[in-house]
Amino acid sequence: GRLIVAIDGPSGTGKSSVSKEVARRLGVGYLDTGAMYRAVAWWAQHQGIDLTDQVAVAHAAETIPLVMGTNPDDPRVSVDDIPIDQQIRTSEISEVVSAVATNLAVRSTMKKRQRQLINQIAEATGGVVAEGRDITTVVAPFADARILMTASEEVRMGRRSKELAVDAEATRAQIVERDAKDSTVAQFLTAADGVITIDTSDLDFEESVAAVLGAIEA
Ligand code: C5P
Repeated sequence: GRLIVAIDGPSGTGKSSVSKEVARRLGVGYLDTGAMYRAVAWWAQHQGIDLTDQVAVAHAAETIPLVMGTNPDDPRVSVDDIPIDQQIRTSEISEVVSAVATNLAVRSTMKKRQRQLINQIAEATGGVVAEGRDITTVVAPFADARILMTASEEVRMGRRSKELAVDAEATRAQIVERDAKDSTVAQFLTAADGVITIDTSDLDFEESVAAVLGAIEA
């Protein structure tokens, strides 16, 4: 049958790399919902929209010609057939994306699109691993497996600075600032009933993958 796996968590928990590897091992598709918020931020800016203009940004979210790649080996994101993977990962987009993610009209549009995508991918590949912040609670509470990945702030900071190749102090400041900006979103980051929490603070990549696969089988 179709296996729908929802994985939430903040950055620095290993969520993205683990989600992709779990999708690979299960032989199913993958959906990065954070990339969708990033794509809307990029698209709105590209069109000269002021990201604090909630109505204009909500309209951009409804009309964006967004195509999400769902192959975990190559989850490319494109708008109007133009790949924007690099453009949406810049520190500039990371800085401004919370203005888009806290826009409730945008969230409602994204929820609809993400739910459709999850069902389409599951239909096409036999399953899906969808990752984000509100997948277990809002987008796909109907998932067969719902997992919340966490890690201590210290560990998250260390992983982020490795990823970004910058010094730890700068990363600490960045994480604290992004967590604060994400506070509207953070309300979704709770282990609701039936959600399995996996603390990856003391787990390496392989152990994290094994823990998630174990939670899916449970
Ligand atoms: O995970 P990533 O850093 O790519 O997420 C980009 C932004 O989108 C973050 O601000 C995050 O809080 C937000 N987001 C969200 N809901 C999701 C996934 C990401 O609000 N399901």
